[in-house]
Amino acid sequence: MTYVEEVMERVKKFNPGEPEFHQAVQEVLDSIAPAVAAHEEEYRKVKLLERLIEPERSISFQVLWVDDNGEVQINRGYRIQFSSSLGPYKGGLRFHPTVNRSIMNFLGFEQTFKNALTGQAIGGAKGGSNFDPKGKSEREIMAFCQSFMTELFKYIGPNEDVPAGDIGVGAREIGYLYGQYKRITNQFEGVLTGKGLLYGGSLGRTEATGYGLVYITEEMLKSKGMTIAGKTVAVSGSGNVATYTVEKAQQMGAKVVTVSDSNGYIYDPDGIKVDVLKEIKEVRRGRISEYVEAVPTATYHPGKSVWEEVTCDIALPCASQNEIKPEHAVGLVERGCYAVCEGANMPTTREATDYLLEKGVWFLPGKASNAGGVAVSALEMSQNSMRKRRSFEDVDAELKEIMKDIWAQVQSAASDYGQPDNYVMGANIAGFRKVVKAMREQGWV
Ligand code: NDP
Repeated sequence: MTYVEEVMERVKKFNPGEPEFHQAVQEVLDSIAPAVAAHEEEYRKVKLLERLIEPERSISFQVLWVDDNGEVQINRGYRIQFSSSLGPYKGGLRFHPTVNRSIMNFLGFEQTFKNALTGQAIGGAKGGSNFDPKGKSEREIMAFCQSFMTELFKYIGPNEDVPAGDIGVGAREIGYLYGQYKRITNQFEGVLTGKGLLYGGSLGRTEATGYGLVYITEEMLKSKGMTIAGKTVAVSGSGNVATYTVEKAQQMGAKVVTVSDSNGYIYDPDGIKVDVLKEIKEVRRGRISEYVEAVPTATYHPGKSVWEEVTCDIALPCASQNEIKPEHAVGLVERGCYAVCEGANMPTTREATDYLLEKGVWFLPGKASNAGGVAVSALEMSQNSMRKRRSFEDVDAELKEIMKDIWAQVQSAASDYGQPDNYVMGANIAGFRKVVKAMREQGWV
C-alpha cells in the first residue's frame, strides 16, 4: 500500500460516515501524490499526511434558543480549527440544515490549502450550525446568533481564530454575532470579517469572492488567448457568490443566462439583470422564482438544476457542494462548454471532475478560484489591526493581483509535475508546498 493509500484508510477509519470529508481528502491526496513521492521517507517519518488530515482542534457545542412560539430549540454548533501553520485560523461559518461534521471537516481541510494560495498569513478553519435560517423571523435569527456566539467566543480572537460568513451567514448574521462577542468580551476588535462598513468591515469584501472568481477565470482564458467578453456563462446559486459573479462577468462583457436556488433556476436569454437579482435577494430576501415577475422574458424552471439543460461556454457553479454530477458533466461537454471554474466549494463531484479533465475542459477548483473572499477577509483583518480604511479601488486592485498570483502558482505547480493543464493538481500542490514548508520551519507543527 502506498503512503497516500494508507492515510486514506486512516481517514475513513477515524471519520466513519463522513463522505464529503473523504471525498475532499481523496482528491487532495491523489493530486499531491507525486509531490509526496519525492519526499516520502521524510514525510512518513514526521507523519506529515496524518497530521494534515487531523484538525488541530474540533469543537462542537449545543446552541439553545427560543423561537417565536416560545418553544426552546436546540441546534448543534461547530468550529473546526484545522491548521494554524500559516496564521490564525480563518474560515467561514455556515448555517444550513445539511451542516454536520463531515461538511465541516471537508470545508476546514480545503480552507487550509486555499488560504495558503492567497499568500496571506492565515490558517484554515470552518464552522457553522445545522440551524436553518430560511423562514425564520429577524428576532429568531438574532436569538440564534447570540446564543451561537455565547459559546463560540471562548475559542476565537483576532490573533487566534477569525470566522467569516458562508452559506446562510451574511452581513446581517455577522452583525449579530459581532454584537454579542463585543457584549461578552468588552472588546471592539477584528474578530470576524465581513462586518458592516460602520464597524470595521472592508470595502470590497461583499464582492470579493464573485469578483475574484471572474478575475481568475479571465486569467485562465487569457492564457488560452481568449477573454470572457462575448461568452455565454451559466451561474448557479443566487446568494453572495453568485450575485457578484454575475455582476463582474457582465461588467467584463459576458452574458450570464442563469441563476438558481434550491427550488429551481432562472433562464434569461438577454442576460441576468443584476439590479433585479439584488432587489429580490438582498432587499426582499425572497426566492429566485420572483425574478420572472420583474423580467417576463425570462423563464423559471422549478425543480430543475442549471446543469441539466443549459447551453454555455463557461460554467461557474456558485451554490453548494456536489451540484455538478457526472450526467451534468456529460451534458455540459456535449453542449459545448469548455471551461468550469468553481465559485462554490467542491460543487463538482469527483467523477464529474475526472470526466471534465479527461475531456480537456479547463477546470479550476474552488480552492483557487473562490479564494478571493478569504483573501479580502485577510485584508479586512489587516485594516482592523491598523485601524485604517482602504478604498474600494485599492482593495479591488489588490484582489485582482492576488487572483493573478494564484493563477500563476497553479500553472507553475501543474507544469512542475508535467501536467500543465491539470489545475486541480496545480492548486493542490501549490497550497500543499506552502503549508509543508511552514510546518517544517516551525518544527513540524
Ligand atoms: P449564500 O447563502 O449567500 O447563497 C447560497 C446559494 O446557494 C443560495 O442561492 C442557495 O439557495 C443555494 N444553495 C445552497 N445550498 C444548496 C443546495 N444544497 N442545493 C441547491 N442550492 C443550494 O452562500 P454563498 O453565496 O456565500 O456561498 C455559496 C458557495 O460559495 C458555498 O459553497 C460557499 O462555501 C462558497 N464560498 C463562499 C464564500 C463567501 O465569501 N461567501 C467564499 C468562498 C466560497 P437556497 O436559498 O434555496 O438555499
